This record gives sequence, C-alpha cells and structure tokens, in this order.
Amino acid sequence: MTLIKSISGIRGTIGGQAGDNLTPLDIVKFASAYSQWIIKRSGKNEITVVVGRDARLSGEMVGSIIEGTLTGYGINVINIGLATTPTVEVAVTGFEAEGGIIITASHNPKQWNALKLLNEKGEFLNDAEGKQILKFAEEEGFDYALVDKLGSITRSSYDNEHIEQVLGLKLVDVKAVKERKFKIAVDAVNSVGGIVIPELLRRLGAEVIERNCTPDCNFAHNPEPVPENLTEISETVKCEGADLGIVVDPDVDRLAIVCEDGSMFGEEYTLVAVADYVLSKTGGNTVSNLSSSRALKDVTESHGYKYDAAAVGEVNVVDKMKENGAIIGGEGNGGVIYPELHYGRDALVGVGLFLSLLAEKGLKCSELRRLYPEYHISKNKIELTPELDVDAILTKIKDKYSNEQVNDIDGVKIDFANGWVHLRKSNTEPIIRIYSESGSVEEADKFALMIINDIKKIAELI
Ligand code: MG
Repeated sequence: MTLIKSISGIRGTIGGQAGDNLTPLDIVKFASAYSQWIIKRSGKNEITVVVGRDARLSGEMVGSIIEGTLTGYGINVINIGLATTPTVEVAVTGFEAEGGIIITASHNPKQWNALKLLNEKGEFLNDAEGKQILKFAEEEGFDYALVDKLGSITRSSYDNEHIEQVLGLKLVDVKAVKERKFKIAVDAVNSVGGIVIPELLRRLGAEVIERNCTPDCNFAHNPEPVPENLTEISETVKCEGADLGIVVDPDVDRLAIVCEDGSMFGEEYTLVAVADYVLSKTGGNTVSNLSSSRALKDVTESHGYKYDAAAVGEVNVVDKMKENGAIIGGEGNGGVIYPELHYGRDALVGVGLFLSLLAEKGLKCSELRRLYPEYHISKNKIELTPELDVDAILTKIKDKYSNEQVNDIDGVKIDFANGWVHLRKSNTEPIIRIYSESGSVEEADKFALMIINDIKKIAELI
C-alpha cells in the first residue's frame, strides 16, 4: 500500500485508506490542485485539458474522477480514452489545449496507477511547477465553478493524428520501409500499444504478427521491456521467420527491438541506432541520461557532433536537449525523444525512424546491431544501515576518483577509459544503486565490485 507524491505527479496502489494509497479522495485532491494551477498559469477564461489513459483495470475509474473534477473546476475536458503517453502529449498541442493528464503507471504492476501532468506544450512539468501543485494539494484552498460555469466533456481519439504525424516526419522514409515488406512481431503487453503499433506498422506496409495486443492490461508477463521478460516474443520472431520483433511498455514511451534470430537488439541500442540514423541525415548534438550507454557518445562523436549527459528523469533530459540544441536524445531504457515532433519519449517515432534506418541499410536486424560498439551494463545495489550518511560516502568516492572524469549532477558518475560507474542513492531506502558499463558483462561487474568494496571500506571508517 503506497502513495508517492512527487514533482512529476502522484502514483500509488489502488484501494485502501485515503492518504496511504491512490484512492478517489486523493485523485480528487490532486486533480483539483492541477486545475487550480493550470487556471492560474494560463490566465484564460476558457481552459481545455486533454486526458488519456493506458489500459489498466483502474484506468476508467481514475479517468472518470479526473474528468468530473476538472469539469467541476470549470475546465473543458477532451478525453481521448485509451491512448499512449506520447499520444496524449501530441494531442495537447494538436487540440491547442492548456494542459494534459496521462493516467498510467508505465511498467509498474497492475495494482498501480498514476497521474502524470503536462503543460500547454504537452511536456512534463518542471521541479518548481510540480512543487507548486503539491503545495496546492496540501492547502486544499480549492474554488470550484458555479453551475453555469461547469466545463464540458468531449470524447475523441487522437491515435490516427499521432500515427499520421509520425508517418509525416521527413526522416521517416515510408516508401523505403514499404518496399522492404517487413514481417514484424509485436508484443504490447496487452496495453494501448496493441492498438497503435500494429496500425502504424500496417501503414508502413508491414505484415504484423500480434502477441499480447488486446488492450485489457492483462499483463502476460512482467511489463518492463527488458530481456528476461521478452522470451515469448523472441521465440515468436524465430518461429514465424519475422524480420524483427517490436516490444513496448504499457504506455508506449519505451521501445525494445528483437532481432530476426531471436537475440536482443538491446533496449540501450534503440536510441543509439535511431540517433545514428538521424545524425547521418541532420547534423546536431545528442543527450541521454547519465545511466545510459556510452555507445550514444561514441556514435555522436563519430558523426562529428557533441554528446551531453543529463540527470536521470525525462524532464532533465528534455531541459538539457533544449540547452544544447540536441536534435535527438532520450534514455537508454528505449526512450527516444525526437523534438522534430515533440519533446517526449515516443515509441511510435522510434519505430518509424528505426525501420527507416533498417530499410536504408538493407541489413538484417542482427547485422545492424553489429555495426555499433559493444557495451554491457551491469545493475547492482548495496544496502546500508539506516544511520550511515550516504551523501558523505558518495563524496568520499568522488574524492577517491578525482583523477578520473567525475560528474556529480545526479549522484556520482565516474568515467574511466574503458567503462563507467554511476552511483545514485535512493530517496526512500538506505541503498546506493550502482550501474556500471564496459565492453563485457564481466568487465562491467568488475567495475561494480570495485566500487562496492570502496563503499564497504568507507562505511566501516565512518
Ligand atoms: Mg513508460
């Protein structure tokens, strides 16, 4: 039973006591706070907010409460129903709305749900904006609309428009992709990806084999698109003789590719491949977060451009992309952000660009993968006793490796010649997460072990 309030929204488990879980009362309070904020921000008399949801069991319940609360605050709602996270984002600008709310708990298990809040550009709110809404929710100084000022409700879909926008991107080479007549297996973990991804692929002339594409959120496997959860699609690709497999998470902001031989293209390499394609056509810089593969830096520099790392969190990546004028960026977890359409992770955009690259190269998926530098990430954590000062430990690690390239904008990241280690403390538990990367799993594990031993020694001395 959990309710987590953060600057990017509110998330929690469904059912139980208000204040401890994501209950109707909590949803009303938070949606009211967002209404108060968006009215103040826009300063307009007529305000429209787009609402959309993934296929979770609780989605309709949460959505109807949000819809009722916003209209009760005098805000017009355009409810686009079952929709991906990027579809809600582009719908905000498409409908010229003042904001948006996405109802999704992404890859979390089915008892979870969450509200993610968007501004008038369809982008996530920044730190200060998120804090303001949490403050409004705390104060409960809500002022609802009088009867003749209630908002209206419009029900619509934006799937077709979103798909058309992706197909309309200059770098999505519809003709070349159609000519390849790809045979593609899709696993959408029975969420909204099951609606839009097969449709997008058919419009790209592909033969589609659907697996887990019924949007009833009956998660057929752990919904996080990482290798251990992708055995079924890997088998399907091989058995059906498909050219590739496409996997998305329940709200379709993450994209993973499976090669024709059933091997993983690797979630980390979705962005790497797509960036390689974009950079070969349009010059410019790239950004990913500190925990993403070094392969993006290598590929960017091989094209003669500059790579920058951002703190973890989509809003931080987007801010950094704007700051250095990046033409492509995202996260190593399969999140592709291509500002040509919008500043949000978008698996549909990722699919369009990836297939264009594959069509242009005329290679098999596994052959394409071999063009990129080989890196492996190892993910570990170390549990500490609660009385230990985690910040002090991180500072000591930073000092110890001060001769290496150290970045401390988000935890401590140490770049060595042949790999890196990124340490971040958890905000909720006394643990330090240690991500490391190198040319082989063994080398990456070695980096992690070295730092774990350092931490243990420091902890003994504190
Ligand atoms: Mg997601």
